[in-house]
Amino acid sequence: MDTVSLLKEVNFFASLDEDVLGLLQKQLHHVSFESGDELCREGEAGDCMFIIESGEVAVTKQSTEGAPIEITTLGSGDIAGEMSLLGQMRRSAALTAKTDVTAWVLEYGEFQSLLQKHASLSRALLASLTKNLQRETSVVARLMAKDLDHRFKIAFFDNKSYMQRAFEQANDSRYSLRFFESRLSEETVSLAAGCQAVCVFVNDTVDAEVIEELHGMGIDMIALRCAGYNNVDLEACERLGVSVARVPAYSPYAVAEHAVALMLTLNRRTHRASNRIREGNFSLSGFVGFDMHGRTAGVIGTGKIGKCAMRILSGFGCRVLAYDKFPDDAFAKEIGAEYVDLDRLLAESDIITLHAPLLPETHHMISADAIDKMKDGVMIVNTSRGGLVDTAALLAGLKSRKIGYAGLDVYEEESAYFFEDFSSDILTDDMLARLTTFNNVIVTSHQAFLTREALANIAETTLQNICEYQGGKVLGDLTHAVVAPKKKA
Ligand code: NAD
Repeated sequence: MDTVSLLKEVNFFASLDEDVLGLLQKQLHHVSFESGDELCREGEAGDCMFIIESGEVAVTKQSTEGAPIEITTLGSGDIAGEMSLLGQMRRSAALTAKTDVTAWVLEYGEFQSLLQKHASLSRALLASLTKNLQRETSVVARLMAKDLDHRFKIAFFDNKSYMQRAFEQANDSRYSLRFFESRLSEETVSLAAGCQAVCVFVNDTVDAEVIEELHGMGIDMIALRCAGYNNVDLEACERLGVSVARVPAYSPYAVAEHAVALMLTLNRRTHRASNRIREGNFSLSGFVGFDMHGRTAGVIGTGKIGKCAMRILSGFGCRVLAYDKFPDDAFAKEIGAEYVDLDRLLAESDIITLHAPLLPETHHMISADAIDKMKDGVMIVNTSRGGLVDTAALLAGLKSRKIGYAGLDVYEEESAYFFEDFSSDILTDDMLARLTTFNNVIVTSHQAFLTREALANIAETTLQNICEYQGGKVLGDLTHAVVAPKKKA
C-alpha cells in the first residue's frame, strides 16, 4: 500500500509537500495484530497514531453502566489516534482487532523530533489545527443558538426522585434544572456541559481533577445540597476561583430526632418486636430495655444538631453531658447539661451520640482506645459522618460485648452502597455485612436528614445560594460560602 497517500488522508498532513511526507513515511513502523488483540485502551496516554492497512478494528467506549459500546469499525486506510501525536492526550476510545490486522504506526517521540527539525511540518500542523478549530467553533455556535433556554442551568448529580420533587417545587421555573442519577466523578463530569453550576450531595466526588474539568467547562459554582463538605477539595476551588456554598442547616431537628429514634429502637427493640408480631410471635423474651430517664447521655459536638439532641435527651430526663471544642456554657446552663472533657464523657455515658463534623482531628475519634474508656454495654449512635468511628474497633467492641448497642446512619465506606438498591446483589463489604448481622446494631442508609421540612429547606437554601452567585457574589462573599481553611504562616 502507498503509505504517502495514506499519510495525506490525515488532516494534519494533507497540505504537506512530498518531501516532508517522505520524512514522515520513513518513521512509520509496520505492525501486526491478531484477532482480539488490544491496539490501545480508553483513558490511557496515547503514544502513537495508527493507519490501518488491512483487517477490521473495533472502536469502543466504556458506557456509564460499565459495559463497552462499539461506536464504529475501522478498516483499510482508516486512521486513529492522530491527536496522540500532539501531546500524548488520553485515548478517547479503545481499539481492538476484530480480525487479524496490519497497521502502520507513527510514534509520538519520533513525530516530535521531526517537528523540531522541520519548520514546514510545524506550519502545516498549525494550519490544519486552525481549520479544525474554526469548524468546531462554528459547530458550538450553532449548538448554542439552538439552545433557546437562556435560563441559568444547574446540573444535579446523584439525583433521587424525592430530592427532584423538592427542587422543582422550590424552583418555580426560575432556573433550568438538569437532573442526573449518576454521581459526579471524572467519568460523569461531562454531563454538566452547558450548565453554569453543579449541585452535589455527600457522596459525589468533587476532587481536584473534577473541579479542574468543571472550571474548564466554565462552571465555577458548586452548590452543595448538604451541610458537610469533606468530599470537596477546597484548595483546588480556591486555586481556580471556584465558589462553593452549602446548606449549613436544613433541619437540625430531623437529624437529632433520627439519632433519638435509633436510641429508642435499639433500647426497646421495636423493629424486632414488629417483625415478631407479623409472624404471629407475641413473646417478649429478649426485649428488656431500660428507662432513658435517669441515664447519662453524652453528646459529642454541640452545634445545631447536637444542641437539638441535648434538648430532646434533657426532655427525657437524661443527665446530659456534652463535649465540644467550643462549649456553649449558657446553653448548657439553660437546659441543665454539663460540659466535660472527652475522657469523662466517654467514661460516664450510657449513650454516646456523635454530632461533630468529620475533620482530620475528628477522624476515628471513636477508636479502640476511646471504646476502652467507655462503660460496659454502652450505646453508640452516629448520625454525623462514618469517618468519626473506626469500624474495625467498633466491630471488636461489639464482639467482646463492651459495646451493647450501635445505631449507625453513616458508615466510613458508605458511598459504595448507601442510597442505592442492592437487594438483588451481594454485599462485598465484609465490615458492613458483619455489622448487619448483630441484633443490637441498626444501620440506616444516611436517612437522618430525610424529612419533608428538611428537603424543602435544602432546596430553598441551595437555590438562594445559586441566586446570590448569579447576582455577582462569589467565593467567600456568599452567605453560605465554604472556603479553604487559612494556612498557618
Ligand atoms: P455544626 O457546625 O452546627 O456543629 C458542629 C459542632 O461540632 C460545632 O459545635 C463544633 O464546635 C463542634 N466540633 C468541631 N470540631 C470538634 C472536635 N474536634 N471535637 C468536638 N466537637 C467539635 O454542625 P451540625 O449542623 O450540628 O452538623 C453536625 C454534623 O452532622 C455535620 O458535620 C454533618 O457531618 C452531620 N450531618 C449528618 C446528617 C445525616 O443525614 N446523617 C445530616 C446533616 C448533618
